[in-house]
Amino acid sequence: MNLSRRNLIIAGAGALAAGIAGVPASAAAAVDYPGAEWVPASTSNYTVSNRPSSYPVNVVVIHVTQEYYADALAIFQDPNRKVSSHYVVRSGDGHIAQTVREKNIGWHAGNWDYNTRSIGIEHEGWVDQPQWFTDQLYAASAALTRSICNRYGIPKDRAHIIGHIEVPGSTHTDPGPYWDWTKYMRLVNN
Ligand SMILES: [Zn+2]
Repeated sequence: MNLSRRNLIIAGAGALAAGIAGVPASAAAAVDYPGAEWVPASTSNYTVSNRPSSYPVNVVVIHVTQEYYADALAIFQDPNRKVSSHYVVRSGDGHIAQTVREKNIGWHAGNWDYNTRSIGIEHEGWVDQPQWFTDQLYAASAALTRSICNRYGIPKDRAHIIGHIEVPGSTHTDPGPYWDWTKYMRLVNN
């Protein structure tokens, strides 16, 4: 019928334009971590870079959103918020969204030096509500951190896998007292 024919033509034109522009044909091609869903942050909310050539990547910063998963993604997509992390992990099932390419510098640590050399991972939940820190969330995040450490040669220890609260000058307390670092580091080192 007319409508589907029209959609077919539009889709074809789009694919042609994407090919000319050199844009990846599939959004999934943009993720650095297989299985992550690409949900890009606004380009106003991070710094384009070419890590690890431009800066070494030697720290993973663990955050808790203080927002629902969907709201955290919406904040990263809002050009007025000037904030982003590389990944957001959903509490209920450990689903992972990648919002900023790892080669780019996320604005999550509140410290430029740490931003330049870290990957930021946000976890859905609130620091004073440990029920958000599910087994699924820990397992998915630990596998992601393990992958990041393996790919950049980052030691899998607490000197290199840190909470936002441990960033010098941090005014944030996440991931907070209920984040189980012993469990998390054991999973990362599995
Ligand atoms: Zn944080």
